[in-house]
Amino acid sequence: VPQIGVLALQGDVVDHMRALEAAGARAVPVRRASELDAVEGLVIPGGESTTMSKLLDIFDLFDPVKKRLDAGLPVFGSCAGMIMLADEVLDGRPDQRSFGAIPMTVRRNAFGRQVDSFETEIGIDGIAGGPFRAVFIRAPWVERVGAGVEVLGRVDSGEGSADGQGGRIVAVRAGACLATSFHPEVTSDARVHEYFVDMVRGADAGPVE
Ligand code: GLN
Repeated sequence: VPQIGVLALQGDVVDHMRALEAAGARAVPVRRASELDAVEGLVIPGGESTTMSKLLDIFDLFDPVKKRLDAGLPVFGSCAGMIMLADEVLDGRPDQRSFGAIPMTVRRNAFGRQVDSFETEIGIDGIAGGPFRAVFIRAPWVERVGAGVEVLGRVDSGEGSADGQGGRIVAVRAGACLATSFHPEVTSDARVHEYFVDMVRGADAGPVE
C-alpha cells in the first residue's frame, strides 16, 4: 500500500487523508522534514497559498519539499496546492513562493471576479466513468502551460481560454505532478485520488533511505 503524505500546515488536510484512504493508500500528515522522507507521494491541499508559503518557510519545509519534488516525488496539488506547484503565479502577494514543479502560469482567485464558489460537471482525461463533479472555491485557473504539460480538464468560463480552445484550464498533469483548480476531496467521488494513487504506484519513487 503506497504511503502518501498530505502537507498538513494549513488547509483541507483531513478530507484529503480520507479520500486517499478511500483510494487505497495510507495517508499520513506531513509537518516536518522527517515525515516527508517517509512518503512515496505528496498531496498539497487547498487552503490559502500565501499562508502556506509563509508556513513552509517557518517550519523549514520549503526547501525539503522542493528538493523531493525536483527529485521526482509524485505530487498532487488542489486549488492552493495547484498554485504552490506553478512556476508563475499571477495576482499573488509579492513575497509568495511556489515550487515551480509544473511549467505553468496560474491566476489566483481567477473565477472570483464573477463568483466566489461554484460546482460543475467536467470531463477529466484519463478518468473513466463519466463526468466529475468539480467544486471550485476561490479557485485559480491556468493561463499558460509549458512544454510537457498535459491539459486534463477545462471548465467553460464563458470567455474562452488563452490558447483559444475554449474553456479555462482547471486540471493538468506534467510527469509525476498532478494539479486541479477544484477540490475533489470534498466529494465522495474518489476517482481523482485513485488516479493519483495509480501515479504513485507507477512512479516507484520509494521513501528516502
Ligand atoms: N484562493 C486561495 C489561494 O490563493 C485558494 C483557495 C482554495 O484553496 N480553496 O491560495
